[in-house]
Amino acid sequence: MTPYRADLLDLLAQTTSSFITQPSSEINANIERALATLGQRFRVDRSYLFRLSADGSTASNTNEWCAPGIEPQIQHLQDLEVSVMPWWMGEVRSGRAINLHSLAELPESAVEERAILEPQGIQSLLVLPIIWHGRLEGFVGFDHVREARVWGAEEIHVLRVIATTFAQAFERQRVDDRLELASTVFQNAHDGIFITDKNERIIDINPTFTELTGFTRDDVIGMTPNILSSGRQGPDFYRTMWASLNSTGHWRGELWNKRKDGTHYLQRLAIAVVLGPSGEPDRYVGVFSDVTNEHQQAQRLEQLAFHDALTQLPNRVLLTERLANSLQESSQKQKVLAVCYLDLDAFKSVNDRLGHEAGDRVLIEVGRRLQGLCRSVDTVARLGGDEFAVILPSVASATIAVAKVERLLRAVSEPVQATETETVSLTVSIGVRLLTGGTDGTSAESLLRQADQAMYRAKQEGRGRLHVFDAAHDQALVARHEHLNMVRLAIQRNEMQFFVQPIIGIADGGVRFVEALVRWQRPDGGIAPPGEWLAGIEESPVIAELGSWMLERAIDYCAEWVGKGVCGGVSVNISAYELRDADFPHRLRALLARHPTLDPACLKLEILESAALSDIETVVATMHSCRELGVCFAIDDFGTGYSSLAYLKRLPAQTLKIDRSFVADMLQDPGDHAIVKGVIELAKVFGRESVAEGVESAEHLAALGDIGCDAAQGYGIAKPMPAETFAAWVAGRSAAGAARLQQ
Ligand code: C2E
Ligand code: MG
Ligand code: MG
Repeated sequence: MTPYRADLLDLLAQTTSSFITQPSSEINANIERALATLGQRFRVDRSYLFRLSADGSTASNTNEWCAPGIEPQIQHLQDLEVSVMPWWMGEVRSGRAINLHSLAELPESAVEERAILEPQGIQSLLVLPIIWHGRLEGFVGFDHVREARVWGAEEIHVLRVIATTFAQAFERQRVDDRLELASTVFQNAHDGIFITDKNERIIDINPTFTELTGFTRDDVIGMTPNILSSGRQGPDFYRTMWASLNSTGHWRGELWNKRKDGTHYLQRLAIAVVLGPSGEPDRYVGVFSDVTNEHQQAQRLEQLAFHDALTQLPNRVLLTERLANSLQESSQKQKVLAVCYLDLDAFKSVNDRLGHEAGDRVLIEVGRRLQGLCRSVDTVARLGGDEFAVILPSVASATIAVAKVERLLRAVSEPVQATETETVSLTVSIGVRLLTGGTDGTSAESLLRQADQAMYRAKQEGRGRLHVFDAAHDQALVARHEHLNMVRLAIQRNEMQFFVQPIIGIADGGVRFVEALVRWQRPDGGIAPPGEWLAGIEESPVIAELGSWMLERAIDYCAEWVGKGVCGGVSVNISAYELRDADFPHRLRALLARHPTLDPACLKLEILESAALSDIETVVATMHSCRELGVCFAIDDFGTGYSSLAYLKRLPAQTLKIDRSFVADMLQDPGDHAIVKGVIELAKVFGRESVAEGVESAEHLAALGDIGCDAAQGYGIAKPMPAETFAAWVAGRSAAGAARLQQ
């Protein structure tokens, strides 16, 4: 092969060297220069460069050099659809040069190309493809418009080399751009990044690494990431990490590391292995962020969700969870599990007397004392208000468990400094549920409930003590609960009925009062008298519900019957529970207000003697409040409650009802006769009316009349009857009386 002409070699060196020596940012200037140099050297009219778009669908003229006096074309040659020049593109795509001595050499098929080239006045042209790794990137061209030129083979060869230099320059620019981008990411990432060699020696870090750890580049280059280790993770942690890196090529997780200043932080770290050409690990890239705040936030949220804000003790949710765990464990061990429910006695008085701040102090101190006596496996929780719970798992025996609870009881009972100047002495009532050997199939919730019930018993037994849950008592409670629900439901379903039983004056036989008596019309058709179910609802709000229901009707009927002259009034039974309710007189007043024309003295409230004596102070107070409204009172079942004369004097009742048990046998039993007579005389002395209950025969009535009894009630006169039939009964009775009189 003939050697290249020296001038061509010079030209090659001149046009390509700058691409090698200068950075890729100079590429455009270098191309401009090369086009100018080549244009001048070969005396072309126009030298230019076209580049294809990324998808290869369009071509744009990016650089152009024109000889003096030649019209530039660049602005007309942007974004040309390459599909309009199929022959041309076919040539350059195949890597062939287009070398036309005149446009006449264009093949017949190149219609579109001709249409583009002819208007430019082109005489001859040379176009060389720019190809990189088989991909067409563009082409460089040389046009003659003033006269045609014939290109030598050597010239074309040199120009092809130059075209390849352009291709390399473009590739370099692309690589540089990518590097630049990678570097920008590395420099500006909000995550810390470190890169190590295969021996885990750090070879680079980014500025965020320094920001997060405090270690500078100089501190860490050449060191291993061990420099960050806090020692809080054991060897197992790192073993797992390396196992993952070796098997999957990456690892991600959280670990506690140490900053340069010694403080610890929680790092969320992802490590990737970069393999070398041989497939062996060549580098490790670690990307991490500081998630200490996130972690603390999560911990705070957990603290809030599972702890009591005042004492920082576990709350009910956490307690129940721990209890469930303890239950599971105790099913496996032959140990005792104790669940304690604590309620401070009279804590409200601390709040009321010394303020809430003092109350809070007391609660915190109580929590502290309980915790002070507990082991780490125990749980002390605050359930709310003045209620705490303690779980003691794995105690050796029931006796030891109870002894421990007694210690808790004593500790809480020690005086507490509630304010600067005041100490308070509180007691606590503790219910204990002991679980020995196995779970009995009970749940955490039911254990806690049973401990709560036992606590309630401790209160009933006088407070300041502990009570151990007893299953038999629990069953009775469950039964009571069911009974209460049943009766409450019956009231709601309107199954209660309002019956009345007349009370007549013995002297004149006239109907003085009627006693209201409740009946339960069971869905099965039977009528249940109160003796069968009333005792089961005493001392519960259900009896008050029933009482309201009866009282309301009693007053309505009273207004109706007194208004019509059917009888003198209605007498209604009031339970001890209602009598203790301070609100009772107000409710009574409201009910009476519905019948302004009714004389309140026509309403009589019957109170069992035993109820009156159970809490005489309160009952007397309530009675006085009701008396102020004008209503009357009767002491019911008189003689059964051992009331002393002193009490009788204090009770503002107008009527004494002599208990049925004395009346029943008075005809046979002189003792009962004496009692009945005694009560009647007593009533006279105190100025009270006497009513005998359970008068079953005319003989009874006569005997009672003989000893001066005022009024009588009993089957001998009439059995209790539905209220609706009462007026008819009275009418029938007067008719019979009139008939008797006429005889
Ligand atoms: P009580 O107030 O002493 O009512 C009289 C009870 O004696 C009624 O029983 C009545 O049916 C019954 N009785 C009346 N005359 C005779 C008789 O000649 N012989 C016999 N063997 N018994 C007679 P009842 O209706 O079963 O009521 C039982 C108790 O239930 C009542 O005793 C009262 O203490 C209570 N009670 C009834 N209704 C109510 C109510 O609405 N509220 C409250 N709190 N207690 C009620
Ligand atoms: Mg009664
Ligand atoms: Mg009675």
